[in-house]
Parts: sequence; C-alpha cells; structure tokens
Amino acid sequence: MTDPHQLLVRNPATEETVALVPAAGPQDVDAAVARAARVQPAWAALAPADRARLLRRFADTVDAHLEELARLEVREAGHTVGNARWEAGNARDLLLYAAGGAERLLGKQIPVLGGWNVTFQEPLGVIGVIAPWNFPMPIAAWGSFPALAAGNAVVLKPAETTPLTALRLAELGLEAGLPEHLFQVLPGYGDTAGRALVDHPDIAKIVFTGSTRTGREVMERCARLVKPVTLELGGKSPSIVFADADLKAALDPLSFLDNAGQDCCARTRILVQDTVLDEARDVLADALAAVVVGDPADEKTQMGPLISAPQLERVRSYVPADAPALRGSAPDGPGYWFPPTVLTGERPDSAAAREEIFGPVAVLLPFTDEQDAIRLANDTPYGLSGSVWTRDVGRALRVSQGVRAGNLSVNSHSSVRYWTPFGGFKQSGLGRELGPDALTAFTETKNVFISTEGPAQ
Ligand code: NAD
Repeated sequence: MTDPHQLLVRNPATEETVALVPAAGPQDVDAAVARAARVQPAWAALAPADRARLLRRFADTVDAHLEELARLEVREAGHTVGNARWEAGNARDLLLYAAGGAERLLGKQIPVLGGWNVTFQEPLGVIGVIAPWNFPMPIAAWGSFPALAAGNAVVLKPAETTPLTALRLAELGLEAGLPEHLFQVLPGYGDTAGRALVDHPDIAKIVFTGSTRTGREVMERCARLVKPVTLELGGKSPSIVFADADLKAALDPLSFLDNAGQDCCARTRILVQDTVLDEARDVLADALAAVVVGDPADEKTQMGPLISAPQLERVRSYVPADAPALRGSAPDGPGYWFPPTVLTGERPDSAAAREEIFGPVAVLLPFTDEQDAIRLANDTPYGLSGSVWTRDVGRALRVSQGVRAGNLSVNSHSSVRYWTPFGGFKQSGLGRELGPDALTAFTETKNVFISTEGPAQ
C-alpha cells in the first residue's frame, strides 16, 4: 500500500529501504510557490554577473560533493557508479554553462520609423520543474539551472522513487550562498504535488520530463491557464546500420542498455541492412554475452537493475519466455533484474517494436535500402533520438535529414551535450532544453519603443 504522506526510497539493486521522505501535498506546494515568488524579484534584479558568480560557486560546491552525489544516485536509482559520476558532473557543468548564459542574455535594438525599439529578455517568475526517475540529477539540472540563471525561482518536484539527489542539490545550493527559497525541491506524488504545481496560478511555466501519457495531461492542464510548457517525453529511437558500417561499434549493446535501458534516447530499434543481418546477429550475440550486469556500485559493472518491481513487470510483459531472442544474463534477486535482450522475431508493427518498453530490450529489424531505412525509422509515434551508421557521408546526411527526430548522431550513439539543443519531434515532446537558447526559454521578450521625434518646430 502506498502511503500518501510518505515516499519510500528503495535501493533497486537490493530492495533495501534507503530513506522515507515526507510527501508534499497541495498546501506545501502553495507555501513553496509563495516563498519562491517573494524572493524571485530580488534575484532577478541582481546584476547578471552577480547571479553568475553565485551559480559558479554552486558549481564548485557540487564539484566538491561529486562522489557523494554519485553514490547517492547509485543507491536510490541503481545507476552504475561510472554513469552516476557523469550525471553529477553534468549538473556541475550545466551550472557553469548557465552562469555564462546569464552574462550573455541580451536584448536587441531595432531601428524603426520615428525611433528605436529595444527588446528585453525578462524572467518569467517561478518555474515548476517535474522530473522523472530515470536520470534524476541531470534532468533536475536541465530544467532548473538555466531557469535560475535567467532570473527565475524554481520549485522542483522529483519523481516519487528518486528524490534524494535533488534534495541534496538544493542543500548544496544554499551552502553555496543561493538565496533561501530560490531553488526548492518538493518530493511528492504526481497526482497530488505534481498536479498542484501544474495547476498553480503563480507558476509561470512548467518543464515536464516523463512519459508521453502524463505529458499529454500536463499540457491539457497548462492549456487551461495558457501556461507555457516544455515537454521532454518518451522515445523509441532507431540505430540505422548500413552494410558498410563498423558493425562492432554500431552494434554496441550499451547503446540500448545504458541505465538498464531506462533511457529516453536508448537505441531500442536496431535496424540493420539485410545483407549483413546474419553477421549483425552474431556480433550482437557475442556482445550481449559479454555485458557485465550486477552490483551498480562496482566499478566494473556495465548494467544495473531496473528501478522498481512494477517496471520489471512491465518489461517482462513485452518478452514472453519463448520469444525468439538473443539474451545476456542477469542476477536472480533480490533486486529488479532483467537480462539484456534483443528480440529477433518481431514484426515492425508489433507492440515491442513500436512502444517504449523502458528496459534492456531492443528489437532487431532488417531493411533493404536507404528509403526503406528512413520509412522504418519514422514508423513510430516518437521522434527523440537515433543513430546512422555508414562510411558514406552523403548517405549519412540524407538519412539524417529524412529521420524525424530531434537528436541524431552519425557513427556515434551519443545524444546529449549540454551546449547543444535537446528535445523531441512528434510525441517525444515540445520545445528544447540545453544549448545556447536554454535561458531564453525561461524569459518573455518585452519590446519598448523609444521615440526620437524632437519637439514640433
Ligand atoms: P511519469 O510520466 O510517470 O512521471 C514523470 C514525473 O511526473 C514524476 O515526477 C511524476 O511524479 C510526475 N507526475 C505523474 N503524474 C503526474 C500528473 N498527473 N501531473 C503532474 N505530474 C505528474 O514518467 P516516469 O516513468 O517517471 O519517467 C519515464 C519516462 O520519462 C519515459 O517515458 C522516458 O522516455 C521519459 N523521459 C524523457 C526524457 C526526455 O528528455 N525526452 C528524459 C528522461 C525520461
């Protein structure tokens, strides 16, 4: 039974209780938003260089606690320790990048008939950030830090299962000298605290990262108040592997096993040109057998557990025991373990091939030529990420242009760099985070006309 007043944080690798955290209700959201609204104007009035200085100090404080944050992420989310260090480092780096952005957030001056127009990028006020459990620290950071840098206050609701690193980040912000109540973290359930944040009239914008199903509801509720919203939603990303590709690199199973496949950018549809399908199968079988699955705190581990028992059940439901598949191995339990799996007998229109499973499961599908690859790649409601593997640069560009997704890589599986824009096409989302325009997304443009007409002669 879920206790509506309390969140139970479990270590997904052991099922041991890590913490019990009070769950915020609607009154707590009200109070937090009121506090944030009180301190935001003074923060916005600071010189950008002063805001930047405080954010850089926050980055230094995060840096000094990097290992502690990473170990906390391992315990509450089951991430491998190497990944968790990257995640804490990503939060630190984004603070530094956003600090620089504060100093470069400029308006325009536009000559017009009879005078000049001057534009100002003004902060929105209090931003509500709602984060999922799959990358608790980076996603808390992406929504919150550019917003703070642009002069806003932030109320962040982390996911029910993973509130601890976000709470610690907020403490470190205070330690670094951020004004009290400027960056508040309110752990709570989605249908109470989450909804209260979305519906709050003094929340100027919502940044939501999570499933497409919840994102749709968040957008509907924001529409009632004409509230801007950024949505970072699900994915079912293709890896398009042509016959001339470096097959070993292209078929690296970590492209879909990172974070046990609980990665919105996971390359879970492996599309392989039919002339090398058998070879690809052999490469994948060997690679899956070699993946080290186990204790995420161990430096050698490449894949840890799933986040929870319901997530494990969900993944199992897509993989019947007799499904044709290539399989690695995983521990029995305790913990929420599922072996690395590539389904080899799926049709392109099957549920496993089209729906986001969010576990260590990919499907292998053949294609004939470039047009067939693009058609298959686009044959889902999602459009978040993807990879094109070929040594032919013209083809790499043509296919990249043909695939409807926000973040593509050529001869690489990487998706996220904080200094470039990130976001989805189609049902993978709305708006962009990160990159040079990250701060502008947390501002309104104000246009002021200044007359240069002199007194009538
Ligand atoms: P989820 O939609 O269940 O929950 C996400 C967050 O929304 C949680 O904090 C939850 O408490 C809150 N929430 C739930 N119901 C709500 C409501 N009615 N109103 C307001 N808030 C509510 O998603 P999840 O299972 O935590 O996360 C996994 C999903 O996130 C996957 O679909 C994944 O692809 C997606 N994701 C997308 C990105 C991206 O950048 N595009 C990144 C990470 C994860």
